[in-house]
Amino acid sequence: MQNLLDEPKLDAVKRIVKKHWGYDSLLPQQAEAMSAALAKRDSLVVLPTGGGKSLCFQAPALLCAGLTVVVSPLISLMKDQVDALIYSGVSAGRLDSSQSPDERSETLRLLNDGSLKLLYLAPERLLGAGGLELLKDANIEAIILDEAHCVSMWGHDFRPEYRRLSELKSVFPGTPIHAFTATATEKVRDDIVEQLSLDDPEILVGLFDRPNLLYKVERKNKTLEQVTEAIKRHPGESGIVYCIRRLDVEKLCDNLNQAGFKTAPYHAGIEPEQRKANQEAFINEDIDVIVATVAFGMGIDKSNVRFVIHAGMPKSIEHYQQESGRAGRDRLEAECLLLYSGGDYGTWKRILENSEQDGLEISLRKLNDIYDFCTGVTCRHRGLVNYFGQDLKAISCDACDICLGQLDLADDALLISQKIISCVMRLDQRFGAAYTTQVLVGSQEKRILEFRHDTLSTYGILSEYPARAVRDWVEQLVSQGYLQKTGEFNVLAITEPGRDILRGEDTPRLLKAVEKKAKTRTSKQVSENWEGVDKDLFDELRALRKTIAGRTGAPPYVVFHDTSLRDMARKKPLDRAAFLEMYGVGESKAQKYADEFLPLIRDHTSANKN
Ligand code: ADP
Repeated sequence: MQNLLDEPKLDAVKRIVKKHWGYDSLLPQQAEAMSAALAKRDSLVVLPTGGGKSLCFQAPALLCAGLTVVVSPLISLMKDQVDALIYSGVSAGRLDSSQSPDERSETLRLLNDGSLKLLYLAPERLLGAGGLELLKDANIEAIILDEAHCVSMWGHDFRPEYRRLSELKSVFPGTPIHAFTATATEKVRDDIVEQLSLDDPEILVGLFDRPNLLYKVERKNKTLEQVTEAIKRHPGESGIVYCIRRLDVEKLCDNLNQAGFKTAPYHAGIEPEQRKANQEAFINEDIDVIVATVAFGMGIDKSNVRFVIHAGMPKSIEHYQQESGRAGRDRLEAECLLLYSGGDYGTWKRILENSEQDGLEISLRKLNDIYDFCTGVTCRHRGLVNYFGQDLKAISCDACDICLGQLDLADDALLISQKIISCVMRLDQRFGAAYTTQVLVGSQEKRILEFRHDTLSTYGILSEYPARAVRDWVEQLVSQGYLQKTGEFNVLAITEPGRDILRGEDTPRLLKAVEKKAKTRTSKQVSENWEGVDKDLFDELRALRKTIAGRTGAPPYVVFHDTSLRDMARKKPLDRAAFLEMYGVGESKAQKYADEFLPLIRDHTSANKN
């Protein structure tokens, strides 16, 4: 590829990466992104969460003589990245309102003596008078814009203060700008390039698929039980449970605590101090689970979130991708369970109708898209990447409920769907999914008897199935375009393809009505990631990591990622040289921690020999 680094530079980058971060190779697109950075060419890099964006600018920064300025929207995010850099032996600092005077003067000292390599700032600070004054003598090599979708109105996180970044090119003429985002749509990408006036930028777009995430979608029936069951699959691991409303957060959190789980709530209605404390308890692993509204997550860099549960349907696929994407940033396996219901759809519809004027039509379309995703029966990974305009090569992702065969397709889909569509017809296409379902299963509900719908030929025609299964089928027919929800009350109407079904000319895919198989197949990811890992040792290493984190004030994942601990628990290094070979162990971390980790590994190994 024309853009690959020339050999000597590539070697230099690789040496830097190994020395500071302990990685043996680069991830897809990293070499190209680094190449653009070293060639001083503007760039826009779009990689999914966990795609390794930070290394793309951090490693080149170390090969430049001057300073790389990183603009980032959130203080917590900056703090995490700067901590991680310092732990990896890189001269990095930040300037923000949350710093202690000592931290601030240390950053200024390094900046003034020219040894600072990376400086993290909020956008308003960079372009404010103070920031410009501060940087006037600095040799700025490049400006990095993290979370660049915030400049775009089309992004889901538009931030007015990011708008001013359009001035960057005129304030810092000739300084390359590198924009990074995980937001995939083309519209947002184009807008970023335009807003920032990027000059003939290198545009790199990675694959959006996150193969390490296991997606499962279930219709909500007993929310607490479904959530509890999922949490139990991850004992002692960190996870996020998202709810739509604050009230749901409080209730679910109380119930989970009563059931003995270590959880805390997070939403915008909680006092800021308490909210911060809850977030920190989660990050520092004093609690396992945070139950939250969407207010939680932006700027959370915690790499070892092992599960994200949506106890309510999110309002768009973009939101789902972002929220579920907080799982498994360390590229290890993680579970994303989405629970949905028609009620959630209605809740969002009401919220959107009350809060949005201009964008209502688009928002409702997005709401329909996510609902279709939930009720759909195609591979979840494929559904997500298709939404963002990409495709998957593999036929089976091996990491979603559909491909793992946790959902079986009904053999008699044609007959069932003919019965459903006939019923819609008999009801003169004047009723919604819930009512139609009740008629199909032969409910004695008052309204049905009053309307005399118990006399229809399709009344009770699917009475051998549970109402929930029938309701799901109705939704599956809607999501595949055989039925349509119309008007204010989502009345079911038959589409042209739906008429083909009545004539037996087309067969939809419907899921089998049986309860889900109790035994879930493990994805390939899970078995590979744990292969050869001594789990007892892993737990001991985790405990040591937590002790060190408590002592140093950094979150546990800044000390070492789970990936590194698993590698240690797999290969059991006994000396320093072997320790340096572990994933994510660079010279700086080996220097700091070998003396604590090696004895533990040695003790564990000899104890288990006897
Ligand atoms: P993003 O910012 O794109 O979400 P990160 O920069 O946080 O991604 O990186 C995601 C994970 O991948 C982190 O755990 C990071 O340590 C790891 N990582 C990054 N680059 C490499 C590499 N070249 N080799 C191995 N792991 C890497």
